[in-house]
This record gives sequence, structure tokens and C-alpha cells, in this order.
Amino acid sequence: MLDVVGVRLGTFLDTLDTMPATQTDGGARLARSLAEPLPETGTTLRNLLRVVFERVMPTALHTSGPGYLAYIPGGGLPHSAIADLIAGITNRYVGLWMAAPGLVQVETNVLKWFCGMVGWGDDAGGVLTSGGSMANLIALVTARRERLPVDFLKGTIYTSAHAHHSVRKAALIAGFPLENVREIGLDPSFRMRVDALAAAIARDRAAGLTPFCVVASAGTTAVGAVDPLPAIADLCAAERLWLHVDAAYGGFFLLTERGREALAGIHRADSVTLDPHKGLFLPYGTGCIVVRDRETLRRAHSVSADYLPPPQTEEDRWDFAEMSPELSRDARGLRVWLPLKLVGAAAFRQQLDEKLDLARSAAEAVRAHPGLEVVAEPALSLFAFRVRDADPAQADARTRKLLAAMNQRKRVFLTGVPLPGGFVIRVCVLSFRTHAAQMQSFAEDLAASL
Ligand SMILES: *Cc1c(COP(=O)(O)O)cnc(C)c1O
Repeated sequence: MLDVVGVRLGTFLDTLDTMPATQTDGGARLARSLAEPLPETGTTLRNLLRVVFERVMPTALHTSGPGYLAYIPGGGLPHSAIADLIAGITNRYVGLWMAAPGLVQVETNVLKWFCGMVGWGDDAGGVLTSGGSMANLIALVTARRERLPVDFLKGTIYTSAHAHHSVRKAALIAGFPLENVREIGLDPSFRMRVDALAAAIARDRAAGLTPFCVVASAGTTAVGAVDPLPAIADLCAAERLWLHVDAAYGGFFLLTERGREALAGIHRADSVTLDPHKGLFLPYGTGCIVVRDRETLRRAHSVSADYLPPPQTEEDRWDFAEMSPELSRDARGLRVWLPLKLVGAAAFRQQLDEKLDLARSAAEAVRAHPGLEVVAEPALSLFAFRVRDADPAQADARTRKLLAAMNQRKRVFLTGVPLPGGFVIRVCVLSFRTHAAQMQSFAEDLAASL
């Protein structure tokens, strides 16, 4: 069975560089043609693989390809898929320490490495989640538990106008009406304005509300900006607010020297969201929440049941089910551990450093055209630019047209975002498969599309 799958996957990996960056025409027709009733009898694997690889798979954004510079890429390290295969076939249970102490320790190691990367010591902890959205939800629920009474509807949350929408979604799921979420304005570099934050907190206190949590971004999805973490941390300390840093996009740049500079102060957070399926290039399905004090996660999530063994009381024995909403789940730790052990952190550091350089080189390529302007500089590996035009409506229309023309060439895939100053094209370099050749394609396609 493995050999036929291996042949298909080998071909996919060998030809992935030459696939178009997007192939989405006919998606609706394809999806309709795949709808089917529950099959009563089986089909051969060979036939099913043909369906999957020849019909199901090709029509998509080529998110694993080197030219994917849209949204937030990652690529999907095949090493992790091997770990998943092992985890799936052995099917060990990692929700509770006693069920698989070794495998839980492997996952605990990964979390301790991440806590160390943030700058925390032995009291810190965390859990691997399905993604950054779930991590932000866990963070808000934990902040609510730590800072508010059971009757929490007076609690207000502060984030920036460019925070990821999963923050508002987390607030909603955690039981807060969206009116309790303040979107603080941005400075000219698209970072949260700390003076406006302080003013909003003061206003809410005066109105009898209970400010309790600030969510800062360490790399916004829109333009990659890093909020001023030290000043926000000072304010949170003075106001006794929980500080959550959403570093889903930017967090793993902490492995690099430039990233540590850009994210200085992140260790003062109470909780941090990381997304290994972005910055560690893992396949989708791996996010992470880490907290400075592991007990805070436990207080927010621990509920006992008679049919389960009693929770572990030793410091170094983590029951993940006691620290997150999930009980049964996949053995996510192996998927992170295997690639880090196989190639070492240095290889990831080198890759991430390269992405910082690539984004800067692409921004230079944009600057070479006087008709274009870089609107957001690459704080990390993401920047944004647009067409210069005295007429704002014209500038928007021409920027959108440029984006469409570049994507039409199907060597790189970019997305845009409307900012108050107008529509911009974003370039996010974060796939381990993206190298200088793709920046060359970007520069050529840009010149040819103007
Ligand atoms: C991607 C992202 C998220 C959401 O993470 P998912 O893994 O997609 O759930 C949250 N915040 C930021 C800053 C992100 O870039």
C-alpha cells in the first residue's frame, strides 16, 4: 500500500516547483462533480489515488509551492507528514500523561523549547493546538479566568485595528459581545498606538467597565507590523491587564537575531500564540499557545471526571487535557519534534534568516520603480506596496489591476488588502521552498505587469 502512495507523493514533490502558483478555474464544477453518496462497497486504492491526485488536488491555491507569497505561507515539511504517519499507525493517546508518558514527554519537550525561545523558564508551559485561532481562543479564556469575576460581561479587550480577526472571533466564542472589543488605532507604521490604548482603557474604567486584556500583534497578517511590545507591556503591568501577544505569523523569527530584536519584550507577555504551521513550515494543523505560568492554563481548563485517572500532580508530568479544551486528539508533538531533531534548529534559523533577506530584496525590486511605493516596510518577512497616483481611486484601481496581472502569470501568488490609505499588494515570504529564484520571478513579473 505504501509503495503506490509513495510513488504518487514522490511525483508530487518532484514536480511541485513547476506547478502553476494557482489553479482555481472550474472549482465549483469540480466540487459539484465530486459530491457523492456514502459508498456501500470499496474501490481500489490505485483508483482512489488517481481521483485524489488527478481530480481532487490540482484545482487549488498551490500553498505548498515556492511561489506562494499570499496570506501567510509555510509550505508543509514532508518530515512532519512522516511523523503523522507514525503517530496515526501507532495511535497512542496523548491527552493524558499516563496513557503515553514517552510521547507526552516528546511533546512537552517541544513546548519547553518554544517557551525557552520566548524567554521563559521552568514555570512556563503550553499546548499544541490545531492552529493560531484556537490558541487565541485559549488565551482569551485563560485571561478571562485570571482577571475577571465569574460574571464577566463588564470585561473589555483591547487590540489593534490590524489584529487578526480570530481575536474578535475568540472574544465572541468566549462569551463577550463584540462591543467589548476595542480596536485601537495605528501609528504610521501600522503599529498599535499606545497613547490611544491608554486613553481607551481610562475611558472604559471611567464608564464602569473592567479592562482586563490586551492582545498585541507580533507580525500583523495585513502588513507584518510588530506592535510596540515593551511600551504595551509597561502599560499592562501598570493597569494589571493580561497581555497576550499574537505571534502566529512572526513568532518563530525569535530563532533569528533580527527577529529577536524586532520582537523584543515578548517575554513580558502572559501568553503568546505561535503557529508552527507558518513559521516552522509544518503542514496545516499545528498551532501553539504558550503561557508564562502553566498554572493559568490549568485553572482555566481543568475539570475532572470519575472515569478518568486522577490528574498528575508532579511538576514535569503534563496532562494536556487539563490545559486545553481537547481530550482525545492527534499526537501533534511528534510532528514538530521529528523535523527539529532531524535537521536541528540551526537549519530553521538559516531558513528564517533567508526569508528576512528575501523580503528585503523584493522590497528593493519594488523601490526600483518610481511609479510604485512601499507602504509598509518589511519589519519581518512581509511588506506591502501600491501604485502611486495622485487620484486615490485611480491608485486603487491600478494597484488591483497590477495584482491581477501578476497573479495571471502564475509564477507567484500574491494577495492584497484595503488599508485606510488605499488598497495595497502584500508580499509574504515564509515558505521553506521560497528562495532567490522566486524573488527573481516576482521582480520580472512586476516589471512586465506595470
Ligand atoms: C494566521 C494567523 C492567525 C490564525 O491562525 P490559524 O492557524 O489560521 O488559525 C492568527 N493571528 C495571526 C497574526 C495570524 O497570522
